[in-house]
Amino acid sequence: MRGGMRNPMPEQPADVRNKNFEEVTLGYSPETAVDEAQRCLHCKVPQCVKGCPVNIDIPDFVHAVAEKDFAGAFTILKKKTSLPAVCGRVCPQENQCEKHCILGIKGEPVAIGRLERFVADTARANGQDRSEHVDITPKGIKVAVVGGGPSCLTAAGDLAKMGYDVTLFEALHKAGGVLMYGIPEFRLPKTIVQHEIEGLKDLGVKIMTDVIIGRTFTLHELLGEEGFKAIYVGTGAGLPHFLRIPGENLDGVYSANEFLTRVNLMGAWDFPHRATPVCHGKDVAVVGAGNVAMDSARTAKRLGAEHVYVVYRRSEAEMPARKEEIQHAKEEGVELHMLNNPQEIISNDKGWVTGIKCIRTKLGEPDASGRRSPVEIPGSEHVFNVDMVVIAIGQGPNPLLRHTTPDLVTNKKGLITIDDHEETSIPGVFAGGDIVTGAATVISAMGAGKAAAIEIDKYLSSK
Ligand SMILES: Cc1cc2nc3c(=O)[nH]c(=O)nc-3n(C[C@H](O)[C@H](O)[C@H](O)COP(=O)(O)OP(=O)(O)OC[C@H]3O[C@@H](n4cnc5c(N)ncnc54)[C@H](O)[C@@H]3O)c2cc1C
Repeated sequence: MRGGMRNPMPEQPADVRNKNFEEVTLGYSPETAVDEAQRCLHCKVPQCVKGCPVNIDIPDFVHAVAEKDFAGAFTILKKKTSLPAVCGRVCPQENQCEKHCILGIKGEPVAIGRLERFVADTARANGQDRSEHVDITPKGIKVAVVGGGPSCLTAAGDLAKMGYDVTLFEALHKAGGVLMYGIPEFRLPKTIVQHEIEGLKDLGVKIMTDVIIGRTFTLHELLGEEGFKAIYVGTGAGLPHFLRIPGENLDGVYSANEFLTRVNLMGAWDFPHRATPVCHGKDVAVVGAGNVAMDSARTAKRLGAEHVYVVYRRSEAEMPARKEEIQHAKEEGVELHMLNNPQEIISNDKGWVTGIKCIRTKLGEPDASGRRSPVEIPGSEHVFNVDMVVIAIGQGPNPLLRHTTPDLVTNKKGLITIDDHEETSIPGVFAGGDIVTGAATVISAMGAGKAAAIEIDKYLSSK
């Protein structure tokens, strides 16, 4: 047993990967994984589990890896998470499990996320993830799951294992939610997401794509003539926010949501082999500083941009994106222009973007979010000459369900209100994930899906 520094993750070189859409990080070899797992101190009272929203038995699975029992490690993981290959790649482990690892006090925490990815990838490569038999006793009770993101995938899988007859309705033509349309291929290969979804189908989950609840069926129709006895709503926060400054409707301005959906879900990076085009900016400004902004900036770079400027009104210390994503973006040539607040997007006489006018800021007192607020410096206006702008300043809930379900109570942000049992104002309708919390993380959405599955089971069992 030893502590020390963690094993680095092999990666594509920055000047190679910023020209392709293949995965940036390459994964641990079996030898490296075993070596990394052997760093675990096997604490008597492990803190890491506290940081995991789905309570994975982290010490046990890490111990199994240290013993070279990769199959056993996978079985332990699957007890608590249905998407380990996804979580191992995109969870902000530095703020969750790894944050609580005792080794992190003096050195570096065990690379729990990298080990999770290794175990999941190994199980996928040798077919273990699809061969484990799950005993299901059908109850003959129909449950609808509305949305195809990580929250709904988790709820659907858990409910199916409990014996419910689960149908998942997804508005887009592929299930997966942000995992498919938002997070780029170079961070999360889409074949991995679809493979995990195929595993749900093996459990008997029926996946209906291109079905918009609120249009094709209302929630009450699902509960009425469609015969569903309970519903889980996990429709996410996919409606982009805008800056509300002049010029946002010019040609060459995208919401991050549209830009990433075109590239990821519709395969626009491969145009004309794929039908959907996307603008390839030469000089691109990305407004925002979260994971969505980093994904947009790195995508623009891969589409051939010479300069990608990330424009943010606070400093790097306040950036909400994962540290690893910021680091990767910088290595790939993305330029961070902190302490800049956009004021106007400028165009030529044909209506195409030619620049974004910003004013410099300095940091003032902390605001309601606890972060120091930006204060504009008079007379410091300047222009970034760009031919494309991507707005990545956050997302909120789509209002469709709220508008078509008058008795569904939402808060002033339009997020669905739930009680302590994850139930909405409509009996039998439960909700979770980003549609309840606002834009958050994959693992918190999965945790909500898990909790709701338990509550739905209690609700239906009591009937
Ligand atoms: C670009 C980007 C990068 C991110 N990176 C990370 C990251 O690295 N790590 C991390 O932990 N989190 C990340 N996040 C956040 C994370 O992806 C979300 O918190 C998570 O996906 C929320 O899951 P969800 O299931 O609640 O909703 P979503 O993933 O948004 O899924 C909701 C689904 O419901 C469907 N839907 C909506 N309305 C309807 C309807 N009326 N009928 C049927 N279907 C409907 C939508 O089409 C969508 O597929 C990122 C988000 C974005 C946008």
